[in-house]
Amino acid sequence: MKPVLALVGRPNVGKSTLFNRLTGTRDAIVADYAGLTRDRHYGSGKQSGREFIVIDTGGFEPDAAAHDIYREMAKQTRQAIAEADVVIFVLDAREGLSVQDHDIANELRRLGKPCLLAANKAEGMKDSSRLAEFYELGFGDVHAVSSAHGQGVRALLELALDMLPPAEPEDEALSEEDLAQRPIRLAVAGRPNAGKSTLINAWLGEERLVAFDMPGTTRDAITVPLERNGQKFELIDTAGLRRKGKVFEAIEKFSVVKTLQAIESANVVLLLIDATQGVTDQDAHIAGFILEAGRAVVIAVNKWDALDAYQREQLQGQIENRLPFMKFAALHFISAKKRLGLAPLWQSITQAHKAAMRKMPTPLLTRLLLESVQFQAPKKSGMFRPKLRYAHQGGMNPPLIVIHGNSLEHVSDSYRRFLEARFRKEFDLVGTPLRIEFKTSE
Ligand code: GDP
Ligand code: GDP
Repeated sequence: MKPVLALVGRPNVGKSTLFNRLTGTRDAIVADYAGLTRDRHYGSGKQSGREFIVIDTGGFEPDAAAHDIYREMAKQTRQAIAEADVVIFVLDAREGLSVQDHDIANELRRLGKPCLLAANKAEGMKDSSRLAEFYELGFGDVHAVSSAHGQGVRALLELALDMLPPAEPEDEALSEEDLAQRPIRLAVAGRPNAGKSTLINAWLGEERLVAFDMPGTTRDAITVPLERNGQKFELIDTAGLRRKGKVFEAIEKFSVVKTLQAIESANVVLLLIDATQGVTDQDAHIAGFILEAGRAVVIAVNKWDALDAYQREQLQGQIENRLPFMKFAALHFISAKKRLGLAPLWQSITQAHKAAMRKMPTPLLTRLLLESVQFQAPKKSGMFRPKLRYAHQGGMNPPLIVIHGNSLEHVSDSYRRFLEARFRKEFDLVGTPLRIEFKTSE
């Protein structure tokens, strides 16, 4: 599971600016869960091979708790702190210490999370006496940074990451046989009330569990082993779900971080959509995150029993419109409550996993590439005509195809899509995102 950093501080100290720095442009704001989180933003970042999640909080003004909006912000911030492994407390080096900073410091002490102080906007500030006053807060060292200019940010992040427990070994370290022997890690993701617990309990009710009680690993991940048609699965505890005795039940607080972590650590995600609510923004956000994480995915529209024929037709159109980037995923209409349509899900889950793990030999990939070029060559862009030479596989789950050649930065999006369609068809890549990377050698 990726560790979580939360940025906390009063408004206008530069939290969003720091957030953008930490997440980089590519991954910025992977999930801005409208309606659910109001002011919180979630993003993922990477430094020196270590990956992490960052939460940007709107602002924290315990003092102004009389106002509803501030109270809501404070609540949001507390939740972000609760979810964080390390808190970065952002201060304004130009304005110096304020009363609000003291309030926040007290709150952080009360919550007892590891904490780093970042004095932001410190570019060009030689005078360290300005920073000295921040020691008053009693959190030890103050780290001068300039989020706007990027100064000190790497060092700060390094310190934050050093405060975390060491990362667990990655799958890549395992041999292929080991990987093949492993259970398929499955996460059921969806909005609160989509029917996740009902579905999982329906599954568990039918299953004889191999061993129900597994010790929770570090970072508190709960998984439940189950077996279906001879295939072993490991069900990952997802946001809003907790095992209570022998059943799963919805917990009150829906945790976006937990959803993100579950998706990250899964091989396949079952995205559950509530038919009675239609495809909401939140569904689209979760889908976006699955895609970004490169996970295999199966979409199940639950509560199908509650719709009439007209509503069903409407919803099918809505799915195509709102989740066009999920066309590669198998789509099922189910009723978890009435236990209808559940069996075919397993087939799609297994199929998606197979596709995600597909081996694509270099000769076959290259032949396919050259045939595609012969069928339709990439267009010239200005003076350049991209020359595609050969391809090899660069990774699994998601499958990554690396194409080598010249002037490949001029390959158009539509040509990329054309190639993707060819590869998908040839390798039967149903249910998994596919990544294509161009490497120009010149
Ligand atoms: P937030 O409300 O804490 O998220 O703060 P923002 O990230 O929106 O930044 C508030 C203001 O401070 C903006 O005008 C930023 O451009 C500015 N700002 C952020 N970081 C720096 C910095 O490192 N140096 C300076 N001089 N200004 C900054
Ligand atoms: P979770 O928050 O995603 O775990 O959702 P729950 O499993 O707690 O279900 C939320 C509500 O939807 C409960 O009242 C369920 O009885 C209901 N529900 C779940 N599945 C179905 C279904 O297939 N059809 C209908 N009509 N209701 C369902």
